[in-house]
Amino acid sequence: MRIAVLPGDGIGPEVVAEALKVLRALEPAGLRLECTQADVGGIAVDRCGDPLPPPTLALARACDAILFGAVGGPRYDTAPRAQRPEQGLLRLRKELGLFANLRPARIFPGLGGASALKSEVVDGLDILIIRELTGDIYFGQPRGIHTLASGEREGFDTMRYREGEIRRIARVAFESARGRARRVCSVDKANVLETMQLWREVVSEVAHEFPDVELSHMLVDNAAMQLVRAPRQFDVIVTGNMFGDILSDEASALTGSIGMLPSASLDERHKGMYEPIHGSAPDIAGKGLANPLATILSAAMMLRYSLRQEAFAQRIERAVQAVLRAGLRTADLARAGEQAIGTAAMGDAVVAAL
Ligand code: NAD
Repeated sequence: MRIAVLPGDGIGPEVVAEALKVLRALEPAGLRLECTQADVGGIAVDRCGDPLPPPTLALARACDAILFGAVGGPRYDTAPRAQRPEQGLLRLRKELGLFANLRPARIFPGLGGASALKSEVVDGLDILIIRELTGDIYFGQPRGIHTLASGEREGFDTMRYREGEIRRIARVAFESARGRARRVCSVDKANVLETMQLWREVVSEVAHEFPDVELSHMLVDNAAMQLVRAPRQFDVIVTGNMFGDILSDEASALTGSIGMLPSASLDERHKGMYEPIHGSAPDIAGKGLANPLATILSAAMMLRYSLRQEAFAQRIERAVQAVLRAGLRTADLARAGEQAIGTAAMGDAVVAAL
């Protein structure tokens, strides 16, 4: 199985190195991966003036999965749009047709205290948010800002979803639920928006293909409230691009540190890009302080979804749990008085737990 490894900028290379260390530790147990590294983001701009150089895109296309670090940094904030590191990431998603964004929001044992909510509300939380990533009001045409006859300016965007787009993301949700608690909550705004009325109809149709999975519907305003009121009621949440953008960030705040949260973006054949949800963290880059667990857990998702190696994925997740249960913490997780370990030491601890 071929993996494109795109570490990127800032703490990206630091956390990706730890994920590779963990993957390599599974080789004696039979995991065979051929990893090829390439530049993306700011480092690619520095080296060849393009955040997604053609050889990197070609590698990403040729591989079975992509392990991505993070891109960006203050040096590039004033660059023209085409030369911003983030363009490398957006273009990769678009070029590879990665329409399904999976973000687990999970509280690991002992980390309940790191959440913004009381631990009795979040202990044991394990939600999977599935966000449609290539449609909706973010891409719908027409859009723009024009001047009305009155001289006043008006901005407009168009929310649109084709049936096929809804159907394929719904299938991802139902299939994912089969490996979990078999409950899908579809979040929409069907009471006000035509697009969302169609969303609800199509998701309900797809549900007939999955009689073993329970489907419920929830309006997005209620979902936003329920996520902070009683988040454990959810198993899989499936929603459109804009609502998913907002709700997945809200859900990530339930779990404590951004350094714990992995993600996957999949295409129709389950080829995917796997990355921590955090950015390049320039404030701690190069200091060996970054928490590598989000990237290590992203590697576990890669084994699960693209490489179909569920047993290896679970071994990594159990090793992460064991390390946390043993009280090991990087600085972002450590509470006052707790001693923190560095990036490489955390990677080593996961390998030892494996
Ligand atoms: P960020 O996620 O990089 O950092 C936010 C805060 O969280 C910082 O204090 C950082 O130190 C901390 N943090 C992040 N990851 C951590 C980890 N693994 N361990 C410990 N602490 C961690 O977000 P930002 O500061 O808004 O953005 C920094 C740069 O990253 C910007 O250039 C931004 O555009 C880019 N960015 C990239 C991605 C991506 O590559 N997917 C995502 C978000 C932001």
